[in-house]
Amino acid sequence: MLEVTQIQNGIVLDHISPGNGLKIFNKLMPTQTDNPVVLLMNVYSDYMSKKDIIKLENVENINLEFLGLIDEHISINIIKNGEVIHKERVTIPKQVKGILTCHNPRCITHSEPLSNPTFELVCKKTLSYQCEYCETITKYTL
Ligand SMILES: [Zn+2]
Repeated sequence: MLEVTQIQNGIVLDHISPGNGLKIFNKLMPTQTDNPVVLLMNVYSDYMSKKDIIKLENVENINLEFLGLIDEHISINIIKNGEVIHKERVTIPKQVKGILTCHNPRCITHSEPLSNPTFELVCKKTLSYQCEYCETITKYTL
């Protein structure tokens, strides 16, 4: 059994459904240029038979909002000095910023380079979000 506390300080994403680990890894990599990152795939788990795990060493503040959009099983473990100091389950975010781009080609957010629109959740099932500027519904896709 691989222990989640093997890193001293950082974040461990546990209980990722098999296959989702790589998708999440690819999304996280551009933000992790200096710190060690470990991706474990198809690890045996009592809870879900197999799972993926991602360990982000020396990372404290990163935006993990998008995780809820990929996989609701994930638990986020914050590690300090080798101990899990905080554990939480991901949730589907009610609002997202910096994750989606508006599906409406005429939306002002495409021509305004500094705009970072907020999208409000309108449907959990389909992961649909509404643009704050033009109210177009945009669905999250990987
Ligand atoms: Zn829009």
